[in-house]
Amino acid sequence: MTAGQCIFCRIAAGDIPAKIVAHDDDAVAFRDIDPKAPTHILVIPRRHIASARKLEPADAALAGRLLLMATSIAASEGIADSGYRLVVNTGAEGGQSVDHLHVHLLGGRVMRWPPG
Ligand code: 5GP
Ligand code: ZN
Repeated sequence: MTAGQCIFCRIAAGDIPAKIVAHDDDAVAFRDIDPKAPTHILVIPRRHIASARKLEPADAALAGRLLLMATSIAASEGIADSGYRLVVNTGAEGGQSVDHLHVHLLGGRVMRWPPG
C-alpha cells in the first residue's frame, strides 16, 4: 500500500476527519473510531511505517516519542494513576488490521490478561 492510500496517512494529513487529541511534528494521536475501552486513542507516526516490524535503528527516537505521547495523553485523560494499556498489534496473528504503525492507548476500565 502506498502512503496516499493509507487511511492513517490520510488522517495524519487531515484529509480524513478524526478526533485529534494531540499532535507534533512527527506524531498524531486520535480517538479510535470503534473504542474498546472508555479511553481508546491511537498514536501514529506521521510518516508511513507499515508496522513495528518495519522500525529501523534510525527510528529509535521516533518510536520513543510515540510512547511518550501516549503516556502524556494518559495523564491528560486522567487514567495515569488508575493504569492503562499500551498495545502495538503487529502482523496478521498479532491482530493488526491497519498497516500503519499505531500504539493503542486503552484505559478507563480493568484490562484482562492475557489478551485474546
Ligand atoms: P489494529 O487492529 O490494526 O491494531 O487497530 C486498528 C484500529 O484502527 C482499530 O481499533 C480500528 O477501530 C481503528 N480504525 C480503523 N479505521 C479507522 C478510522 O478511519 N478512524 C479511526 N479513528 N480509527 C480507525
Ligand atoms: Zn500510512
